This record gives sequence, structure tokens and C-alpha cells, in this order.
Amino acid sequence: MNLGKVNKLQHMGLGPVWVRRHGVAAGIAAGTGTGSGSGAASDVALGADSAITINTGVARASNDQQDAALAAMDWDPLEASIRECTRCGLCEGRQHAVPGVGDRAARSLFVGEGPGRNEDLQGEPFVGPAGQLLDNMLRALDLARGKDTYIANIVKCRPVGADGRDRPPTPDEVDACMPYLRRQIALIRPQVIIALGKTAAVSLLGLPADTALAGLRGEPREFDGIPLVITYHPAYLLRQPADKAKTWRDLCLAKHIIDGD
Ligand code: SF4
Repeated sequence: MNLGKVNKLQHMGLGPVWVRRHGVAAGIAAGTGTGSGSGAASDVALGADSAITINTGVARASNDQQDAALAAMDWDPLEASIRECTRCGLCEGRQHAVPGVGDRAARSLFVGEGPGRNEDLQGEPFVGPAGQLLDNMLRALDLARGKDTYIANIVKCRPVGADGRDRPPTPDEVDACMPYLRRQIALIRPQVIIALGKTAAVSLLGLPADTALAGLRGEPREFDGIPLVITYHPAYLLRQPADKAKTWRDLCLAKHIIDGD
């Protein structure tokens, strides 16, 4: 694909702003929020040091067993497991878990951060304005939702702050949920993974959460032997439309990998 086909950017239209709230994740990780840290905070309040050790050990063993089972699951039991999952605190506030959507034999896999309010209500990833922009991005690459593309998120349940707004998932929530995405990737075996935004990029690369996205773009990276292209999240692009040109270059890189040219 020719990088000069900038007119394709016309497909990547504008829309309302989705505002990400920063700083809430750190509060929750510190036990001051409503997320996955709340259970541990209760144990500490009871002063039950031995119970903490036992409970943590049981939880870890249980998750290890679950991870092994997940790694062998086919699609239907995997999606059923996601919908019933209680591996992290995000299960408590969800309306719907959002496993993903699309072509299970796709050559391209787009990975976002996590469901927002609309996705939580509808059970599908990337609906609303950011989803419309993603659909436009797909159309610019001659792809479509469900056509040679699968769309998933790092976490399958909506991370929501104490103020009721969307927030990034905590590292613990990412760790708890990653076995599902790993299995989805193993089942799809796409030719390229496109990470949408910093949370997706650093989670797939195993980097610290404060790693700058700008330094990760430009060259294909790798996840489990699969080329990984990193670009901006559609919600960010709604706020910073000037970066759509950079995103277009990233998408062209992904298209080159898909087409093998
Ligand atoms: S976010 Fe992932 S790990 Fe947490 S409850 Fe939902 S499916 Fe389970």
C-alpha cells in the first residue's frame, strides 16, 4: 500500500471526545478505590496475616490451574469462561464481559485497552464514537469488522473509577486477564497484531505502564513470534486528530505485513 494515499484518512472521521481519567488506577492499586485491591484491603483491616498468606497462595494456585485449562480451550468454552470470570475485581461492576468480536481466522488482530461504558452495556468491543473511528480505520485498509479482522481488548470487563468513569486497568487486572487474550491469539494466529494505545502496547510487550507510546511506534515489534504494530487508540485520536497521519503510517505498516510486501 502506498503511504501517499493520504486521502484514505478521510475514512478516519471525527466524533465526540471520550475522556480518559488518569490517576484512578494508582489509587485503586493502593487500596483506596473500588477495584481489585479492595479484597486485600479487607484482609489487612482484620489483621489476619496468616489468612492473607493462605488466601494469596490458594488464589495463585487456583489461577495457575485456570491458566493451564484456558491454554487448551477452544473458542466456545473460552468465551463462556470469560463471561463467567471472577479472576479480578472488574467482575463486580460489569453488565457484560466483552470477549471480542470478528473473524476467528483473521490475518489481523486489533487489541484495545478494555471495554468502556457502551461496550459494557452491549457486550461488544469498540462501539460508540471510538468504535466508529476504528471501523473507518478498518475500511481504509479494505478490512471490516468481522472480515479478516478480530477485535479484542487487554481486559474483558470495564475498568470503572469511583466516579463512575472509565479508567485504565491496573497491572493486577491486566495480569489476571492476559491468559484469555493469549489463548485468543494462539487460536487466531494472526499475521499481525495491532496494539491500539499505550495500555495495549505495554501489556503485550511486558513493559512498565509509564512507558511512552511515542517511542514504541514506527518499527514492528513482536508478541509470541507474531509481528506487533503499535499505534494510537481511536479514543485518543478523537481528542488529537492531528495524530491520524501517524496512525495511517502505522496502519500501512500493518497492511504491508499482512500483504507480505
Ligand atoms: S477483566 Fe478479565 S480477569 Fe477480570 S473478571 Fe473480567 S474476564 Fe476476568
